[in-house]
Amino acid sequence: MLLAELANSLVDAQNATRREDYRCPACHEPVRLHRGAQVIPYFAHLPQSPCTIQGEGETTEHLTGKRQLATFFAAWGTTELEHVLPTVQQRADVWVARTPQPVAVEFQCSPLALGRVSERTAGYHQLSCYPFWLLGHRYRRQRLNWALIERFMGWLPRWELCLLFWDVEHRQLQLTHHLYQDVAGHYGGQVTRVTNLAALMAGPARVDPYPQLSLVRVRYHWAQELARATPQLRPIQEFLYLRGHHLLGFPAAFAATDCTPPVLGQGILLWRILFGTALFALKGPLTPARLRPIAQNCLDLVGGHVQTVRVSFPHLLARLQTQFVTELVQRGYLDVVPGGWRIRRQPRWRSEQL
Ligand SMILES: [Zn+2]
Repeated sequence: MLLAELANSLVDAQNATRREDYRCPACHEPVRLHRGAQVIPYFAHLPQSPCTIQGEGETTEHLTGKRQLATFFAAWGTTELEHVLPTVQQRADVWVARTPQPVAVEFQCSPLALGRVSERTAGYHQLSCYPFWLLGHRYRRQRLNWALIERFMGWLPRWELCLLFWDVEHRQLQLTHHLYQDVAGHYGGQVTRVTNLAALMAGPARVDPYPQLSLVRVRYHWAQELARATPQLRPIQEFLYLRGHHLLGFPAAFAATDCTPPVLGQGILLWRILFGTALFALKGPLTPARLRPIAQNCLDLVGGHVQTVRVSFPHLLARLQTQFVTELVQRGYLDVVPGGWRIRRQPRWRSEQL
């Protein structure tokens, strides 16, 4: 930590001299000043300290970043390093006294379990402050992945679904924004760097269109995965096989080309193939109440979610279902009847493998 208590006031490690009576501002246990030629000065608890609101292990990146972020956010209000919040047992790396809503900045450089991200986010919400999670270098160099999205994806006006990274070396905020997933489940987003809050508020100078994925490429990719017996596709292929179908022969009527929010696991196309297969195997009238649990079951099979720690998509599944059923009606596979739909004709599966 950068601050310690001394005689009821706070001392910044960069101005501190060696002495024995520094204490942690949160738990008031003794802390020791660390300084040397190679390290930025900081305070640390003694080993086996009982402190329950310790921050993450201090690295140069984390110590430097915290100070940079206090400066970066200063245009929004008075900033305070390592602000202790006793009611929720948390310590915000930087606290911004913004009106009407304060902002808690978390500069996360080390790995953090999903449960801890949820707890800390909930703690900030309890205090009605907005948590700004900024991720360090180890996260910035990762490829987009679900663990990252599930823990840290937020939503900001003009940037939409986004991840925020702080680049200590360049003193820049890097946004990976307009996050999406293509039909085959690959994550993507647009990267923009900003150097001040005005640029953050202004949003990106341009927004790239979401990419369109060729279905030929998707089939080719799946053929390779099936040949390699990739475990993720196994439950999907089993589901289809038991109903007399092969994944690569999916009907054109099930195809999708639009990107989705990045929460659908292996992607919307697999979800539509499973849901369409289950739907056309049903006998009797199709009602929304009958289709809903099937849609959910198929979402589970493709590893999809309707919620991350910070963003929920309560209507996403219903919207995907409505869109798909509407298309099937338009293409003459389903008829609208009172209270639901009726199968008019079965979609044709391709028999050849590729
Ligand atoms: Zn402590």
